Amino acid sequence: MSQYAVIGNPIAHSKSPLIHSLFAEQTAQDMSYSATQLEEDQLNAFVRVFFANGGGGLNVTLPYKEKAFDLASSCSPRAELAKAVNTLFLDNQNQICGDNTDGVGLVTDIKVNHGVQIQGRRVLIFGAGGAVRGALAALVDEHAAKITLVNRTLATAQQLQSEFEGLANIEAMPAKQAVESGCYDLLINGTSLSLSGELPAVDVALLAQDCFCYDMMYSDTETVFTSWAKKHGAKLSADGLGMLVEQAAESFAIWRGVRPDTAPVIERIRKSL
Ligand code: NDP
Repeated sequence: MSQYAVIGNPIAHSKSPLIHSLFAEQTAQDMSYSATQLEEDQLNAFVRVFFANGGGGLNVTLPYKEKAFDLASSCSPRAELAKAVNTLFLDNQNQICGDNTDGVGLVTDIKVNHGVQIQGRRVLIFGAGGAVRGALAALVDEHAAKITLVNRTLATAQQLQSEFEGLANIEAMPAKQAVESGCYDLLINGTSLSLSGELPAVDVALLAQDCFCYDMMYSDTETVFTSWAKKHGAKLSADGLGMLVEQAAESFAIWRGVRPDTAPVIERIRKSL
């Protein structure tokens, strides 16, 4: 039986073992998937021993996605852009390869599960941390009309803008300037503020008529961001549970060569929250 695992710290809250066991059952794959909490100085040795012992693949979560990027021998173009890895596997020369499926998870959730197109739309993202970094390459591939980055620390957003220079119309700016520059079709909350029940620098003036508001955080109840969106007349709002399941499905497809049906798994995980 092939072994898989998610590594991070903390890890007890992770839904990945449940998600991947549901995928494995659905697609009849003979595999196991566990969660391992690691200290930073254990990471390198754990990954190497895991693969040397025949491990099939690893997911990497906070706070090790950048370190996983450093330890991989080669990375996919989207992981190179993100400089962060959430999926590790061996290539046919037994070299450790890294990929980042967070962005495609977000885009699939928005487009397929919620039926919202990104191409040609005006996108505003709050935040410029790891989640936004991981998602940006996939959003760029969707050819949004423009991607505006608003972050508490403007310099971090400007750094992302410069790394993606020439690939898309991406501009980092203070919240006030974003409000003055017009409204947006898609507002994405990629900050960690929902965890503490706080809102990023939202303003009703940011909402275009058919605006879709997406919170990367997920919860068993409305997040403050999705509830703000509803209250102020956004056409649609969603939390990030679909993103979580879709990024897992992409990892699963990389490892097992089969893509699970995510809809029943999203429903099942929602009930487990
Ligand atoms: P990081 O810690 O890397 O980044 C946090 C971001 O939030 C930064 O942009 C930070 O701004 C901003 N922020 C934090 N505190 C404040 C504050 N008090 N006021 C304003 N801005 C603040 O976290 P991640 O990027 O990894 O995660 C962000 C969110 O995305 C989390 O809610 C996480 O749960 C979610 N997520 C969801 C996933 C999914 O699959 N659904 C996957 C990964 C993440 P600054 O730069 O100024 O510090």
